[in-house]
Amino acid sequence: MVKAYRPLSLTEALEIRESGDTVLLAGGSDLMVQNRRGSGIIPDLGGAVVFIAHLPELQGIFVAEDSIKIGAACTLAGLLQEPDMPEYVKAPLAQMASPAIRNTATIGGNICNSSPAGDTLPMLYALEARLLIQSSKHSYMVRVEDFITGPGQNLLQTDEILVQVQIPNRIYDGYYYKKVGARKANAISKLSFFAVSRQEDNRIQELRIALGSVAPTVVRSREAESLLAGLAWGEIAQVLPEVQAYYEDLIQPIDDVRSSQEYRHRVALGLLRNYLLTQL
Ligand SMILES: Cc1cc2nc3c(=O)[nH]c(=O)nc-3n(C[C@H](O)[C@H](O)[C@H](O)COP(=O)(O)OP(=O)(O)OC[C@H]3O[C@@H](n4cnc5c(N)ncnc54)[C@H](O)[C@@H]3O)c2cc1C
Repeated sequence: MVKAYRPLSLTEALEIRESGDTVLLAGGSDLMVQNRRGSGIIPDLGGAVVFIAHLPELQGIFVAEDSIKIGAACTLAGLLQEPDMPEYVKAPLAQMASPAIRNTATIGGNICNSSPAGDTLPMLYALEARLLIQSSKHSYMVRVEDFITGPGQNLLQTDEILVQVQIPNRIYDGYYYKKVGARKANAISKLSFFAVSRQEDNRIQELRIALGSVAPTVVRSREAESLLAGLAWGEIAQVLPEVQAYYEDLIQPIDDVRSSQEYRHRVALGLLRNYLLTQL
């Protein structure tokens, strides 16, 4: 038998979390797959299940002038339907899973699953998203890149819940997103590439690039981004070898069922070159 709770509020959910031996279930699209035990057999989630997708404190999308605040239990479909959500946030979400999964999968679940292939992550790293984490005793903000510590690993403690995702609301001149997968739908990324940029007087003012599935966690090179800042488009080719060298150091893919180390490495650097020379 599975012990399960359906708290009516975040406060109640956090009290239940105090017991320590609980598993949070939002959309369940990662949890149920990871813990499946065969047709007709109830998955063993390894603790009492706490349903959180319905909690009012984990809903809500607030797009203000300076920040975008997203409840952790907002579904991907809900985010895609939000008219004020910038297109650069929507771009990776639109290519995740399939319409049915997007109706149940949450942004908080994608973050807390902390897979190197999590498709919201390159976007959240590049946009420098911060997470609001709460327990009964405390609450704190943490940058997504500090929160995720390795493949499937993060700072979340057994008494905590991710409540909200906050993204600085900036105006970018351009964004670019490319997901490389085996199919158009229901394909976990072989790798992915996300970038946003701002330009002034035809020079790069700000550039942020993040790659997923090419290392234990999302890769971003601030050194390369600084090197590119201030350059005109025609000057990029001169620094390209140096820029590539920064990413060469960071890109350390693995062989797995979805792709090979060599393919990921080659395509990641190809996407970088293509973006800088033809898309920016
Ligand atoms: C057919 C299929 C296709 C998929 N395609 C993609 C894809 O293209 N790209 C992609 O990135 N993923 C994909 N996924 C994986 C999954 O759908 C996403 O990662 C999704 O965003 C997970 O959200 P969820 O709400 O279902 O998470 P859940 O399964 O409910 O939870 C995932 C993990 O996060 C924890 N958690 C959830 N919410 C919180 C919270 N608020 N606070 C703390 N911990 C929390 C859970 O305890 C669990 O450990 C796919 C899955 C399936 C089944």
